[in-house]
Amino acid sequence: MDNNKSASLKSTPPHDVVGEGIEENLLKPYDDENAELLNKTMLDSVEILKDHPVNKKRIAEGKYPANMIWLWGQGTKPNMVPFAEKYGLKGATITGVDLIKGIGSYLGLTNINVPGATGYFDTDYGQKANYAVDALNDHDLVFVHVEAPDEAGHAGDITEKIKAIESIDEKIIGKLLDELPKFDDYAISILPDHATPISVKTHTTEAIPYAMCSTKGVEDNVNQYNEFSAKMGSLGTIEGYKFMKSFLDI
Ligand SMILES: [Zn+2]
Repeated sequence: MDNNKSASLKSTPPHDVVGEGIEENLLKPYDDENAELLNKTMLDSVEILKDHPVNKKRIAEGKYPANMIWLWGQGTKPNMVPFAEKYGLKGATITGVDLIKGIGSYLGLTNINVPGATGYFDTDYGQKANYAVDALNDHDLVFVHVEAPDEAGHAGDITEKIKAIESIDEKIIGKLLDELPKFDDYAISILPDHATPISVKTHTTEAIPYAMCSTKGVEDNVNQYNEFSAKMGSLGTIEGYKFMKSFLDI
């Protein structure tokens, strides 16, 4: 198979087509020989996985079976400048999501594996915060990623979404704000990478609210973090790719 040609096929993120049929969302163009082979693999996987012992065990335990292979989000290795080279800082990532770990690896960040970090509603928020505080002893910057609010958005589950946001607020931000003052100088920022509104169950592209707090930073009148109050902030709207420099400069 030609990997570069496969990278150019049109694939569909499953969370963009919740409730839609499988056939119309397979890899396109359908008549491409690589797409044909990969689509056959995906469709054959349904039969192979149906009676797989691992799935029988999962069903018996009341868990969802892995009922299909779904290929999407393919690409070729990006050419990224290592974080340390670009910003002169040693960084780490904490996440339950392989995609983010992969970006961390490209950037030369330390991927810190946290027991109980699942990339889902049931993630261990407290442990992520504990490991982040520990990591700050030998890293300049720690990126803590939580997937749960996004997953709750995709699921259209308002209760889980509120719970996830409250847990981040209390168990991660709260813990970090308690612990960070032991460092002489520190800065912290909170932001999502995009919205996933319950109303549409997928990602949207409006500007996201971000907050920054630093021992060297200036105060403004905003004292809440949400979409509405962030608009009143003194930091203004910036392009995503300028965020890190802006954060390191405050
Ligand atoms: Zn998402």
